[in-house]
Amino acid sequence: MLVGVATQDTGEIATGLDSAQAFADAVVGWQRIHGRNDLPWQQPASPYRVWVSEIMLQQTQVSRVREYFARFLARFPDVTSLAAASQDQVLELWSGLGYYSRARNLHRAAQVIAAAHAGTFPDRFDQVIELPGIGRSTAGAILSLGCDQAHPILDANVRRVLARCFAVPGWHGERATAGRLWQLAAGLVPDHSARRYNQGMMDLGAMLCLPRKPRCGDCPVSGHCTAVRNDSVERYPGKRTAPTRPERQRRMLIIRNRLGATLLCRRPEQGIWAGLWSLPELEMESNPLEWCRARFGREPGGWRELPPREHGFSHYRLRMHPFEILLETDGCRLLDGDRELWYNPEQPQAIGIPAPISRLIRALSTPEENT
Ligand code: SF4
Repeated sequence: MLVGVATQDTGEIATGLDSAQAFADAVVGWQRIHGRNDLPWQQPASPYRVWVSEIMLQQTQVSRVREYFARFLARFPDVTSLAAASQDQVLELWSGLGYYSRARNLHRAAQVIAAAHAGTFPDRFDQVIELPGIGRSTAGAILSLGCDQAHPILDANVRRVLARCFAVPGWHGERATAGRLWQLAAGLVPDHSARRYNQGMMDLGAMLCLPRKPRCGDCPVSGHCTAVRNDSVERYPGKRTAPTRPERQRRMLIIRNRLGATLLCRRPEQGIWAGLWSLPELEMESNPLEWCRARFGREPGGWRELPPREHGFSHYRLRMHPFEILLETDGCRLLDGDRELWYNPEQPQAIGIPAPISRLIRALSTPEENT
């Protein structure tokens, strides 16, 4: 087994089974007593439950995932039920978690497992990593946490622990840094107790090796930690120089009928909020009232502009300018029943709506916003 352990002064990697075993033993022993052993996806742990939790935990805090996980598992207790659901049913349960491509990939992967593996989650790494939305770390987590197989993982918590322990320079998105971290992760995962070791590494990152003010005095691997020894914890992990995110402006049309329902359109299958139901959008220079006349063949009964709202995506900020138009009708013929619908927040349909859009629609139903 390849092993990487930092030498006393430089953080250079030396090899030695004993040191790696001592590191793993320290993590495993600590996890057994101090780690998180009552997470919902651990009771019981299965590849399916670990998979759903791992996908939800990407970009989302554990406390928030607990609530979504419980609802998701109650509705889709296994691969077969998830594969048989419609995309709208899956997206509805994901509404509010964001990064909706995760839910679409989860759904697609369930359908692949149903078709190619008779609904049983595969237990071979090469088959797991082939599934939509599953990368190397997630595949490792599913098989180690779900089946106790010895595969490395490298999520943000584990990266932070390894970067500090072994003084790995650079940002993890850089090839050399990522290669070094994976080498360490693979060299340290023990053949036995891989489940507890990987859980322990994640717990260490989440509970002790915090981004700010790590609790090194309580850390079971402080004796192996180069950053502590060199008093350079704040240098690891290395950060990326963040590019400034551009801003985009869009008019969001809130077309409401006399029954209080709002017109929603299904977004394209590619891009932001893909496949979800959202408000019609216009460029800022377009005239919403002309759009309304052309679309519905009638004059608006009333209209108003509302204060803009912002929503941040990973690569740009969206400045939404809500523009409400009231139609003096109970409804209008929809152009395409599969792409448009009237949505009444009082009797909501089972569809996925992006959280900022859902908040906007709900806010307009409250008396304060309607004055
Ligand atoms: S000793 Fe401190 S910096 Fe090093 S791994 Fe432990 S908590 Fe993190």
